[in-house]
Amino acid sequence: LEPAFSFMIRTRTPGGVINPTQWLQLDAIATEYAERGLRITTRQAFQFHGVIKRELKATMQAINAALIDTLAACGDVNRNVAVAANPLHPEVQAQVLAQAVATSKHLLPNTRAYYELWLDEERVGGSGEEVEPIYGETYLPRKFKIGFAIPPLNDVDVFAQDLGFIAILDEAGALLGYNVSIGGGMGATHGDPETYPRLGEVIGFAMPDQVIAIAESVVTAQRDFGNRAVRKRARLKYTIDDRGLAWFKDEVERRAGFPLGPARAFRFDHNGDRFGWVEAGANLQHVTLRIPSGRIVDGALDGRGPAVLHLTGLREIARLLQAEGGNAEFRLTSNQNLVIANIPVALRARVDNLMQSHALDGWRSASPLRLNALACVALPTCGLAMAEAERYLPAFVSEVDALLARHGIADAPIHLRLSGCPNGCSRPYLGEIALVGKAPGRYNLMLGADHRGERLNTLYRENIDEPQILAALDPLFAAYASERTHDERFGDWLLRSGAIVAPTSTSQYRSI
Ligand code: SF4
Repeated sequence: LEPAFSFMIRTRTPGGVINPTQWLQLDAIATEYAERGLRITTRQAFQFHGVIKRELKATMQAINAALIDTLAACGDVNRNVAVAANPLHPEVQAQVLAQAVATSKHLLPNTRAYYELWLDEERVGGSGEEVEPIYGETYLPRKFKIGFAIPPLNDVDVFAQDLGFIAILDEAGALLGYNVSIGGGMGATHGDPETYPRLGEVIGFAMPDQVIAIAESVVTAQRDFGNRAVRKRARLKYTIDDRGLAWFKDEVERRAGFPLGPARAFRFDHNGDRFGWVEAGANLQHVTLRIPSGRIVDGALDGRGPAVLHLTGLREIARLLQAEGGNAEFRLTSNQNLVIANIPVALRARVDNLMQSHALDGWRSASPLRLNALACVALPTCGLAMAEAERYLPAFVSEVDALLARHGIADAPIHLRLSGCPNGCSRPYLGEIALVGKAPGRYNLMLGADHRGERLNTLYRENIDEPQILAALDPLFAAYASERTHDERFGDWLLRSGAIVAPTSTSQYRSI
């Protein structure tokens, strides 16, 4: 006998794109093997929680049978590549997604161990015969994250990525190439000033056919120069701060064999999702659904409240699209939501009816705060959690919404992010308001990021409980309600009013 170990399995789904048949297969896997349905992560992957040890292999094989793998979805390698999910230019999205899929494939480890362990592939070589041209014998010092953004939407939070590609379009909307950003990362450790979240910085422009060479050069430079002595300082952001941005850029260009071009102008409007129906050309439509904390279940979202039938509803929609939907697809967003893309116009009413009858159209009535809120898994699933996040989010949003309504600003589209610990899986340091868990029921209150993913927030109050959090927000909401200019966002007002101090660097959090 041994303890009843259970595991989390995470898919590698670049850009979070799967077809209706794959949706139905993953739904069946979640129903048979996992606890609490499907969960969309902030990197456009699915997580299956609570898979018990003796069913691990069967679960992995079922995922593989859906033509999806979990290879390099965890570990000190390049993780799932994130891609803008619902941009204004659908044809560019297809090009950028293809580039992201190719980049993900190029950066996969060479090892066959995954196939031998989980898929019963026959072992063909002895140890030492596999060659890892990118990862070498020791892999990377730490995990590595890549994201592709398509302005004016920054739904992937491209500056939170180790390596970001920002699509640059010409005036006609054609893809010219990408600005390259390096050195982003959210993770930190409470009380350790040597660790901090950091925004990526743009170092130049790459043509589409240069993307993979640049990605490989950044990854291998980090492999060779990243900090392997102190794991908390092992991410690329610290390598860059230790050696200098100019030095790292030179190293990347030397390895790639060509210089980057001058960075091109771009502008981000916001880092949320575009909810509801939008035209996608060619008699097709996309619809973006709000999925609270990315959790797709039949049951109570927070474990206590009223039950929903989201898993059943999406199963019905997938069946309809599988039968009649042509090239319709499901796209997970980096904000834990779901785009159902390329729906033939003729099916729109039926899809809409299914959404309504299964309460999947929450985007029509949710407050702006609730629509844009993110929360990591935290308790009870994540072993690193210090406080609640996903289970606490619905109740906390209700409290903050009530406070906003008392000040007459219930319409304020504030970006709120909750995180159970400072690792920052929900990218809390880019929230206009964020709670970062310190202990059960206690959080650091972070304020003042923008809504474009271009400015970090800063510590406002440390280690406080819910009454203290609401008391801290109350006078700020009162002043914001009376002082905000037209369309001025809460994070921007906080800075202009002097309620918080302007960040002085891309890593201001280090001052904590
Ligand atoms: Fe990530 Fe920390 Fe949340 Fe766990 S508790 S999911 S490690 S941010």
